[in-house]
Amino acid sequence: MAAVLCRSAQILGRGFPRCLATTQNLHCRWSSAKPEASSSSPGEGSTFPPLATFTEEEAMMRDMVRKFAQDRIAPLVKTMDANSKMDDSVIQGLFELGLMGIEVDPKYGGTGSTFFSSILVIEELAKVDPSVSLICDIQNTLINALFMRLGTEEQKDTYLNRLCKDMVGSFCLSEAGSGSDAFSLKTTAQKHKDYYVINGSKMWISNSEEAGVFLVMANADVSAGYRGITCFIVPKDAEGFHIGKKEDKLGLRASSTCTLSFDNVKVPESSILGQLGQGYKYAIGMLNEGRIGIAAQMLGLAQGCFDQTIPYTKQRVQFGKRIFDFQGMQHQISHVATQLEAARLLTYNAARLREAGRPFRKEACMAKYFSSEVAAMTTSKCLEWMGGVGFTKDYPIEKYYRDVKIGTVYEGTSNIQLSTIAKFIDEEY
Ligand SMILES: Cc1cc2nc3c(=O)[nH]c(=O)nc-3n(C[C@H](O)[C@H](O)[C@H](O)COP(=O)(O)OP(=O)(O)OC[C@H]3O[C@@H](n4cnc5c(N)ncnc54)[C@H](O)[C@@H]3O)c2cc1C
Repeated sequence: MAAVLCRSAQILGRGFPRCLATTQNLHCRWSSAKPEASSSSPGEGSTFPPLATFTEEEAMMRDMVRKFAQDRIAPLVKTMDANSKMDDSVIQGLFELGLMGIEVDPKYGGTGSTFFSSILVIEELAKVDPSVSLICDIQNTLINALFMRLGTEEQKDTYLNRLCKDMVGSFCLSEAGSGSDAFSLKTTAQKHKDYYVINGSKMWISNSEEAGVFLVMANADVSAGYRGITCFIVPKDAEGFHIGKKEDKLGLRASSTCTLSFDNVKVPESSILGQLGQGYKYAIGMLNEGRIGIAAQMLGLAQGCFDQTIPYTKQRVQFGKRIFDFQGMQHQISHVATQLEAARLLTYNAARLREAGRPFRKEACMAKYFSSEVAAMTTSKCLEWMGGVGFTKDYPIEKYYRDVKIGTVYEGTSNIQLSTIAKFIDEEY
């Protein structure tokens, strides 16, 4: 980890403290998320640091990503959005900094850091570009996580090394007929001797234009219903596999979202990730964690939008006053800031619970639901506070406003989060 961060720091051209030796340091020193709170940070040995408190290593990772986002991503955001294309240099930068294998063991070329660090990275990237944040989010919280937990040694050797170094992965569950009702999927995998033949199609697959490997949920035993769903590793160059139409989207335009088709795609039995018929469990499990990633993405997006807007309200003068000084504005701004803080605490709490190995599914749903709703409200309010210029492409607010809408749709719509939360409440009472 330290080596990767040092390398990262060199790439970013900045000095790097020598205090990081191993990830065992993680819980020994805390530095506050906000400078003004550092004096109230607990000392060594405290077991209950405030939620928005980071280990030294987490804070360093966040700062490094913040600088990378400002220096290397920010100048490209507008063009990537206009061209609907992620710049290769951005993806390369993510790999160089070790951000595409944050939790992966260094023996596979990963950074060897923590889930919480991934959440901070996703948040920081989203402040500048939510599309870049998504590629990092899916790689870490879905693709690498599935390989790390379920992969055979051979699969890990083959894929984790590449996923940390130069290969993007895509997670392929949704189909034209199965979105919220994900396990009614129709893609099949039929067994023949020691191989399977996959037929069907997928829709809405993020990063598919850049990906080299696809984790495909297909039903290997239709008679067993959803218990036939199995996760297959499909390389980009598999015969009969086609990456189809790229969606022309409202927002998140730099992130590719394509349809996929499988026309008698032959994959060896060894391409099964995990166990036959367990794909539905893996998908549910991973999406629970993925939701914390989306909560972080929405949180970062909203904070980025807010950060770009408030200075304007302090400069713009109407009726002889800064518009920030009107009480009607201040109350709205304070309300949004409070909602953002609440979204941050929900997100960090879900991430810390996951990291501590404690139940987190209800909290993950709450974090994703709340952050995406708060982010939508934040971007809408920011656009209004900017007046007419907020509605133009001269300022970044309209892009945040477009990008944010996906938060209430993917990795489980807001309705689906609420239904899952209700199941927990039903069990609790
Ligand atoms: C940009 C983008 C990227 C994506 N990336 C990926 C990806 O990488 N991999 C992948 O597998 N998928 C991906 N998806 C798919 C995404 O997860 C689905 O779009 C999402 O799950 C919703 O499914 P749907 O679009 O079919 O909507 P539907 O399921 O048809 O939902 C439509 C409406 O009905 C409501 N609804 C449905 N069922 C219920 C219910 N039981 N109770 C109450 N309301 C309900 C929903 O809340 C929603 O408001 C992506 C989608 C987009 C738009």
